[in-house]
Amino acid sequence: MQIGVPKETRPGERRVAATPDTVKTYLGLGHTVVVEAGAGEASGIADPAYAAAGATIGDPWGADVIIKIKPPTAAEIEKPKPGALWVSLIQGEREPGLLEAMNAKKLSVLALERVPRVTRAQKMDVLSSMANLSGYRAVIEAAEHYQGLFGPAITAAGALPPARVLVIGAGVAGLAALAAARALGAEVRAFDTRAAAREQVESLGAKFLHLAMEEAGEGTGGYAKVMSSSFIAAEMALFREQAKDIDIVITTALVPGAKAPTLLPRDVVECFKPGSVIVDMAAEQGGNCELTVPGERIVHNGIVILGFTDLASRMATTASRFFSTNVANLIAELGKADTFKIPLDDDVVRPALLAHSGDLLPAPPPKAPPK
Ligand code: NAD
Repeated sequence: MQIGVPKETRPGERRVAATPDTVKTYLGLGHTVVVEAGAGEASGIADPAYAAAGATIGDPWGADVIIKIKPPTAAEIEKPKPGALWVSLIQGEREPGLLEAMNAKKLSVLALERVPRVTRAQKMDVLSSMANLSGYRAVIEAAEHYQGLFGPAITAAGALPPARVLVIGAGVAGLAALAAARALGAEVRAFDTRAAAREQVESLGAKFLHLAMEEAGEGTGGYAKVMSSSFIAAEMALFREQAKDIDIVITTALVPGAKAPTLLPRDVVECFKPGSVIVDMAAEQGGNCELTVPGERIVHNGIVILGFTDLASRMATTASRFFSTNVANLIAELGKADTFKIPLDDDVVRPALLAHSGDLLPAPPPKAPPK
């Protein structure tokens, strides 16, 4: 099989779906690889590095398998040959009609965000690897825009306490943010609706905030569920009370399949001190902060609100390495060149396969909850 690696064309995307290391993995499986000229440039990977690993630099669009980071643009849908396998993030709910257009071109479509989060598929989980990096980067971006130090300091002009950081949502991204903020010396507090998050937060040396109101936060498979409006109101009251003490807020609260909950409405934001920084990592899914502008930095009453939606791409070299490895692990599941096929009964591949042989595929029935 030939694997094609196009250059990403969506604005602001610096990652690439293959590295010289994963090129070698594909060659080891008996495949050949064609990389578009300049595809790795924004990730610091020059064409000769791909060539040295055994790839051809050329037109990737005639390949049997196209691997990409982002879903195709309208122009890109026209480029692969009919019957080709397309592997990338798809997130069709954000672009109505996209999947249907790909299916009309007879593409088989593997959506990376649909790889189930079960133990066997952890090595293919781009959502986790990217969330991890994004959480770290959110703290670095906050540090860039915050005018103080993270760690405590004793200077000739006096002593300075550590910055106080609040992490809302302690999943993969939130825990990475929490660890990064702790590593920089900040005092960190965190809140999550899932009871299981408490122990993880505390084991990283942060304080788990207590909410007087009890409501189970676990939905299907241990993932978050949409909370009642009275619970959200109690959360907002908690954050309003915390605001006077907090210098930096990182919000990561998401519920699969739903709009991100609004946890920092305007009146809560206005309780923070001027100079505080809010990084809204849920910006792309509707935002946890009412004032967030996706992709932008805004300042409201002296409070900086960052709505960057490209946090992983801002660390393109590392993000490409992680993403490419996840993709190569998924492709390896499809077999070597001589046995290559899409296993329609595989419990990792099938849920991610959204179109095949000219048909849109319904979601398979749910399996046991992930652990
Ligand atoms: P996510 O990105 O969908 O959500 C981020 C966090 O927001 C979650 O922890 C969620 O509980 C929290 N949240 C939702 N509503 C909230 C609210 N109103 N207030 C505060 N917090 C709120 O989740 P994620 O980080 O991708 O993963 C969540 C869980 O799934 C974690 O426990 C993680 O360990 C687990 N997971 C398991 C696997 C696996 O392979 N088994 C892989 C990835 C993640």
